[in-house]
Amino acid sequence: MTSACRTRQAGFLFMNMLRVAIQSKGRLNEESLKLLKDAGIEVDDTKRKFIGKASNFPLELLYLRDDDIPGVVADGSADMGIVGYNEIAETGADVNVVRKLGFGRCRLSLAIPKTVDYQGLQWFEGKSIATSYPNVLRGFLNEKGISAEIRQIMGSVEIAPAAGIADAIFDIVSSGGTLVSNGLKEVESVLESEAVLISRKDLPEDRLEIMDSVLFRIDAIQESRGKKYVLMNIPTAKLPDAMALLPSMRSPTVMPLALEGWSSLHSVVDDASIWQTVEGLKRIGAEGILILNVDKIID
Ligand code: ATP
Ligand code: MG
Repeated sequence: MTSACRTRQAGFLFMNMLRVAIQSKGRLNEESLKLLKDAGIEVDDTKRKFIGKASNFPLELLYLRDDDIPGVVADGSADMGIVGYNEIAETGADVNVVRKLGFGRCRLSLAIPKTVDYQGLQWFEGKSIATSYPNVLRGFLNEKGISAEIRQIMGSVEIAPAAGIADAIFDIVSSGGTLVSNGLKEVESVLESEAVLISRKDLPEDRLEIMDSVLFRIDAIQESRGKKYVLMNIPTAKLPDAMALLPSMRSPTVMPLALEGWSSLHSVVDDASIWQTVEGLKRIGAEGILILNVDKIID
């Protein structure tokens, strides 16, 4: 092979590689890698560097600080990214949010010292508020017609009131434990967030197909979340009653058993109502009930 040919081939391979930016360390890193792994995309993260290539899929990972992910996807340095929606809202990055991913759930909230008798948003008029999310906060205050001073600080926002830096804070809350331990209370929830999959707006044609394949796999994983596969033996005469208890994907699978008058019934059931469903089935005579995990569902 001539060197020109090799170069062309290397260029071709690169063009057909989807570059995905994920958080290098922090709250979203593990779940992001797990999502790709569940999608059958093997990335060796043991010797993690700046870039990691998947061994069995045309995808490479760019490991970044979460703050940088919206920008690199917007400018096309990466094709896709996994990041908290809060970062998209703050940066206003010009990207497509293609999927909500269901992890990294949190909210951006206003919090004030717990001793304050809070009567409503007017309390914030003329006050100072410390935050790492000045743009989201500015948008909210403008919308509500409140004028307050926004003090941008990069970290340890929750200590600002006790340290005399600001009267209140606007920060990420999940359980609320950090607020409580800093003598604060959440008074207004402004933005709900979770990890999202984003893509650049002008994704080249040759990478669209790879993105579609990633989305197909992620959808199958998400579809199976919170679902169980239930199978049981049941008197054939009781099948109509059993079907009424099983709102399955299309209709439950029914197979005759060797034993006269009995059938095997299979269905997919919501995990949240699994015990209620199974108790109902038991009551109408179901036996040998098996409940199995569902890995992927492809509609
Ligand atoms: P980096 O070093 O990448 O800049 P970071 O310290 O800014 O990391 P993390 O604390 O790892 O960020 O949080 C990443 C994202 O996880 C947040 O932007 C948010 O979307 C989500 N998240 C969920 N719950 C929480 C929480 N309780 N505190 C902070 N972030 C949370
Ligand atoms: Mg960050």
